[in-house]
Amino acid sequence: MSAEPVQYPQAPKRCGAKTRGARGGRPCRTWAMPNGKCRMHGGKSGGPTGPANGAWRGGKYSRAGKELITGLHQMRRDGEALLAVSLDAHGLSRKLPKSLRRRTHIRRARAEAKAAAKAKEPK
Ligand SMILES: [Zn+2]
Repeated sequence: MSAEPVQYPQAPKRCGAKTRGARGGRPCRTWAMPNGKCRMHGGKSGGPTGPANGAWRGGKYSRAGKELITGLHQMRRDGEALLAVSLDAHGLSRKLPKSLRRRTHIRRARAEAKAAAKAKEPK
């Protein structure tokens, strides 16, 4: 005689998780939730991903959102560097705010522009 229940085609899907305690080691027979596990073996955890999830905050923490923000920050740095180099080229270096002059990307861009100008200079 088998201890396993008879499986009917219309019966709900079973959880199948490995059980502990008195039933130790045998598969859980409780009906499964949409994610394939019963309410006690992870069926209730998690949730829909993306905007369908109630905790969705506009996507700023999503992979695409983070990439977009990273790109925007790079655009800002590029723009600031361009401004700094252009001001230098027109002799308006003092117009660049101190807060920008100190920043690494500005320093690097100015040093590169200076080096390029020096290299061009015929001697
Ligand atoms: Zn289960």
